[in-house]
Amino acid sequence: MGLIVMKFGGTSVANPERIRHVARRVVRSYDQGNNVVVILSAMAGVTDGLIQLAKQVTDLPDKRELDVLLATGEQTTAALLAMLLKSMKYPSMSLLGYQAEVVTDKTFGNARILEIGATRIRDLIRERHIVVVAGFQGCDPDGNITTLGRGGSDTSAVAIAAALKADVCEIYTDVEGVYTADPNVCKKAKKLKKISYDEMMEMASLGAKVLQIRSVEFAKRYNVPVHVRSSFSEEEGTMVINPDKDMESIVVTGVTSSKNEARITITKVPDKPGIAAKILGPIGEAGIVVDMIIQNPETDGKTDLTFTIPSGNYREAMQIEKRVAGEIGAEDIFGDENIAKVSITGVGMRSHSGVAAKMFSALAKENINIQMITTSEIRVSCVIEEKYAELAVRALHKAFGLDHL
Ligand code: ADP
Ligand code: ASP
Ligand code: MG
Repeated sequence: MGLIVMKFGGTSVANPERIRHVARRVVRSYDQGNNVVVILSAMAGVTDGLIQLAKQVTDLPDKRELDVLLATGEQTTAALLAMLLKSMKYPSMSLLGYQAEVVTDKTFGNARILEIGATRIRDLIRERHIVVVAGFQGCDPDGNITTLGRGGSDTSAVAIAAALKADVCEIYTDVEGVYTADPNVCKKAKKLKKISYDEMMEMASLGAKVLQIRSVEFAKRYNVPVHVRSSFSEEEGTMVINPDKDMESIVVTGVTSSKNEARITITKVPDKPGIAAKILGPIGEAGIVVDMIIQNPETDGKTDLTFTIPSGNYREAMQIEKRVAGEIGAEDIFGDENIAKVSITGVGMRSHSGVAAKMFSALAKENINIQMITTSEIRVSCVIEEKYAELAVRALHKAFGLDHL
């Protein structure tokens, strides 16, 4: 007996039959004596559909109104599940983000959770209600509806689990857990029994969308055990937890790829102090996050600077840099949207050497050229041509012995 937060993603609530299936799973846990809070996503494809709908009305939808629109996806599924549970004679109630007191900042479309009151959730649990909360949405201190960024229901779930001090946050999705690589890209990917918060955070930020990165940040900060598992099977999934000793013995636990980046290069920039700040400052001021940066060695007092940014910001960043390039007297500026970042992750890297070199030679063997490299204590990332992303994932998966884990 305990308090369990169960989150169901878009494919798990994609149609009425699947919602019925979700209800049966929820009820089973409740009947075992647990208190249950359910967090739901919108039906698969609905959020994308709503974005398209908005774009049919106007090219650049107002961000506040877009959030009002997008929040309806989760409002729909929460209402459907709660009415179904009530029809099955279980006490239940749906709550929207503001009713659950999910307070966020004002960044429409990508809001951060500031605090969660959850008084109403607590009261309802005390009365043995199954509380169904619409994920992905909150409300700013002025009462405006906000959304938490794509995949944000994961963060709703973990944050609510933290606020309620739940025993576990179960994330039900369309795969059986967290794998060594995206199982839809690499057929030989293996399910991990457990993964540390830090590794999961790196993997999430590097393209493993199975959990939204902010949900893992919350889980780590508040020590919430997260269980990623399939809503279509009874198999145990993957526990996301604090690291233990045997995790260090595996050097690489995950291979990820992300195609959501673009590269901008400014050539023959006069090499003098402050130039990097002049180039990157306006990008930061525009709220665009720079990922990798490379500056080539100087020749004849000139240098080239290359950096990557999310592909969604590419057009805006190019516009900014064309202006900057003119101001600082650069020779040329060009960009490339067809790049991918492939990465390897593992806490074991802290205590093993030669990991990066092994990665580079595995890519070289496939004739894949490396354009940029970055490393952290527990990961190595390379930018490559986008068309090689899947091949690179499979090659690295094999090179680091994950095919036969
Ligand atoms: P949901 O709608 O349930 O939130 P998502 O589509 O957001 O589901 O996340 C699940 C998907 O994440 C899987 O279908 C899978 O393709 C993808 N994925 C990417 N990397 C991984 C990984 N390392 N392990 C498991 N799934 C992954
Ligand atoms: N429905 C939202 C999305 O598609 C949130 C989520 O599914 O987690 O991004
Ligand atoms: Mg998701």
